[in-house]
Amino acid sequence: MGRVIKHYCNVCKSEAQQLQIEGSGDYQKIHYACKNPECKHKFVMIRTFSHTTRESDLTRTQSVEAEAANLKQTEE
Ligand SMILES: [Zn+2]
Repeated sequence: MGRVIKHYCNVCKSEAQQLQIEGSGDYQKIHYACKNPECKHKFVMIRTFSHTTRESDLTRTQSVEAEAANLKQTEE
């Protein structure tokens, strides 16, 4: 996995440790445990894909290729 995003307990504001991630892809439930020994709050955060703000160059290239293929077909 990549970098762990720091999360904080919403009760005592201490740093929380990431325990596990449920699911994969666009919808994940992330389990955390508060590192404060006097708190020990455990909680789940939900991370979901929201929306695209810039189109991927990968899909852009594909659509350009698809357009080129379409043009070829109409020319023939
Ligand atoms: Zn806490």
